[in-house]
Amino acid sequence: MKIVFATNNQHKLSEVRQILGDRFEVMGLSDIGCNEDIPETAETLEGNALQKARYVQEHYGHDCFADDTGLEVSALAGAPGIHSARYAEIFGSGTTHDSEANMTLLLKNLEKITDRNARFRTVIALLYQGKEYLFEGICPGTILRERHGTEGFGYDPIFQPTGYDRCFAEMSADEKNAISHRGRATEKLAEFLRTLPPAPPL
Ligand code: IMP
Repeated sequence: MKIVFATNNQHKLSEVRQILGDRFEVMGLSDIGCNEDIPETAETLEGNALQKARYVQEHYGHDCFADDTGLEVSALAGAPGIHSARYAEIFGSGTTHDSEANMTLLLKNLEKITDRNARFRTVIALLYQGKEYLFEGICPGTILRERHGTEGFGYDPIFQPTGYDRCFAEMSADEKNAISHRGRATEKLAEFLRTLPPAPPL
């Protein structure tokens, strides 16, 4: 089955392709000729994921799914949350999608705080044959005091999932996918897609 994932992030595309397996041909935005920035102006992860999926459906006519993820830190009342990608740009001195600046700002904001609890939360919105579906994945963990490891992206060097003594950036892609927020949300999406009868070709 062919399905569009509303992203151009190669990390995410390969993570999701790995989980969905051979039965699904997952196309990214560039594969359907969508090169514009899709608006993400909602105030929740659910709203943003739906906004992106609806945009692709309206402008390109494909059934598709879109995700939105936030790192929610307990001691910061859920921040950076929906602002995770642009945390330093909005509240500090970074440029957009600057992971280094985002981590530096988060570590600074937590400098004197002992409660390091946090969670990654992903929401996937699927638009399929005129209906909308939402899938959520949560990965609880803690924010480390300094960066470790070289794998992954975003906040991976400072996020250690509960039950592990290594952070995401010290794990292989397979290891991370098995427990990550996006992995869990994608598993739910995959379970749902597997129950569907074959769709007409795009
Ligand atoms: P997005 O909605 O998936 O683009 O995620 C928003 C931001 O959250 C990204 O720009 C990253 O900074 C961060 N993020 C999302 N997923 C991950 C992850 O798996 N590891 C680390 N950071 C992530």
